[in-house]
Amino acid sequence: MRRQERLTAKQKPRKCPKCGSAKVAMILYGLPAMGPELARDLEAGKIVLGGCCTSDDDPCWQCADCGAEIRRTTG
Ligand SMILES: [Zn+2]
Repeated sequence: MRRQERLTAKQKPRKCPKCGSAKVAMILYGLPAMGPELARDLEAGKIVLGGCCTSDDDPCWQCADCGAEIRRTTG
């Protein structure tokens, strides 16, 4: 299994740093209340669900096209 290269950004990138796609989705952790708005955002690729198990090193955004995960850097 090949290790994914580590991508980071200070804020949500407008384009995927890997493939250049504009479909960069925010990863939502936990169990969000499913509603029409969330369903629409999931369908549009604006949000992906990260599940409820989180660690200290979870990516913040994910490219909807190539699946690249982007972590938030501080400073
Ligand atoms: Zn991408």
